Amino acid sequence: MQHSDICIAGAGIIGLSLALELHHRGARITVLEQAMPLGEASTAAAGMLAAADPDNPPALRPLSDLSISLYPSYLTRLRDLSGLEVPLHTSRALQALPEHMAETSAVLSADALRQILPQLTPGNRRFVLLDEHSLDPRQLATALLAAVRATTIELRTQTKFLSAKSSGDAVEIQTAAGTVHASQFVDCTGAWSTQTAPKKGQMLAVALPASLPLATVVRTPDIYIVPRAAGPKPTRAIIGATVEDAGFDKTVHPADIARLKAQATSLLPQLADATLLESWAGLRPVTADHLPLLGATPSRTNHFIAAGHYRNGILLAPATAHVMAQLLTGETPAISLSPYSPSRVL
Ligand SMILES: Cc1cc2nc3c(=O)[nH]c(=O)nc-3n(C[C@H](O)[C@H](O)[C@H](O)COP(=O)(O)OP(=O)(O)OC[C@H]3O[C@@H](n4cnc5c(N)ncnc54)[C@H](O)[C@@H]3O)c2cc1C
Repeated sequence: MQHSDICIAGAGIIGLSLALELHHRGARITVLEQAMPLGEASTAAAGMLAAADPDNPPALRPLSDLSISLYPSYLTRLRDLSGLEVPLHTSRALQALPEHMAETSAVLSADALRQILPQLTPGNRRFVLLDEHSLDPRQLATALLAAVRATTIELRTQTKFLSAKSSGDAVEIQTAAGTVHASQFVDCTGAWSTQTAPKKGQMLAVALPASLPLATVVRTPDIYIVPRAAGPKPTRAIIGATVEDAGFDKTVHPADIARLKAQATSLLPQLADATLLESWAGLRPVTADHLPLLGATPSRTNHFIAAGHYRNGILLAPATAHVMAQLLTGETPAISLSPYSPSRVL
């Protein structure tokens, strides 16, 4: 019989960030991953830390703000454990307001917009400038995995979680490779959780032409363009993303990629001749109200869930790890978790 304090199913950014936080607090952790760690949504993402995106539900803001405040210490912990620095690639975002949003004094004049990004053709869109960072989720994943491997966290890859049932003070977890016993169990299986659904997102990466030295994220309700700087100058940009109900299908369709690129080109015409470098798809874990599920699973003793981070799991990982670790170790969470209560759907 193997026993850990806490068993986590799912080695995406949510499961592994929580594992690290709990390990830091002295818990013995086992993580079960059905395939390879960080091989799903967490490396398909664009990496925007978009706390102030007007498309986010207002109830997401406290968790988003907490995460932004925790990001520096989260990255420092990853660096201390892994020896790998995760750089921030951008520090501001031009955000187009949705049509229904009221005018605000923050809306940039045509002159101000031209000064920030002369290549932008805004049309009749109203843009504001946000203090917002982005990072490369692949770099983050490399550092996160190396950090986990530098600890005593037991990470079992190719080990599918099948079921968990409470027995006394413990939880008995069935996997495809035997039984695990733990005091508590946390479902971090993202789009595979029975409480969430997958929302497919297709994306592409292009080489930035020399005529477009883009250093700012550009985002409208329909499209975003996220520059990545490999060195001092941005060399590529991520363009995304579709939002589709397609089950667990991750097929990339050239017609959808061409449509995304055309939408981006309507904002930044210099992208017309940009070379396509890569395209891919990932599965966002979504809930009906677009808010994550964070907390105890109702009527199942010692069962918890941290899933359903939809379009913001990279942003929300540090705060999710923090508040879930507080909950699991009997502390009062730093913010009210009632908007994210699993009992609203379970
Ligand atoms: C195209 C796209 C763009 C995005 N852009 C952004 C962005 O700019 N900013 C942002 O903050 N977020 C973004 N996101 C959202 C973000 O990627 C997700 O919210 C986040 O990665 C969810 O993390 P997770 O750990 O819950 O899920 P995942 O990374 O999907 O991890 C879940 C893991 O659980 C494993 N698993 C599933 N079932 C089992 C089982 N039965 N047993 C064991 N293991 C199991 C899976 O194999 C997987 O490794 C984007 C997502 C997509 C798809």
